Amino acid sequence: MHELSVASDLLELVQAELKGQEVQVESIHLKLGVLAGVVKEALEFSFEVVTQRTELAGAKLLIEDVPLGIYCLNCKAEKVLEGVQSLRCPECGQLSGDIRQGKELELVTLAVRDLERQEVYG
Ligand SMILES: [Zn+2]
Repeated sequence: MHELSVASDLLELVQAELKGQEVQVESIHLKLGVLAGVVKEALEFSFEVVTQRTELAGAKLLIEDVPLGIYCLNCKAEKVLEGVQSLRCPECGQLSGDIRQGKELELVTLAVRDLERQEVYG
């Protein structure tokens, strides 16, 4: 399953980010584009699996869906599309190959708890 390798990359990324810090991860905020090729539920499940028995066990994975967005030359604006079936501007019907969003698979923020001060930040 592809999501399993995405989840383990994510785990490594977070571990590298927090290296040497006395913190506990509360939640991880991700942006996931509709064209990223990742199934959200499968990623959530995979994340739970790969974080078992790691310092990230129990951390919440918050996934923000990013819809497909194109730049319409006709309207001279970015437009958000309802689905991924067509790349036509919802206002004027112009076909666009200029994809501006929807391919994201990125870490936005980490909310961590400082184990010494018991403060949550992120
Ligand atoms: Zn348009």
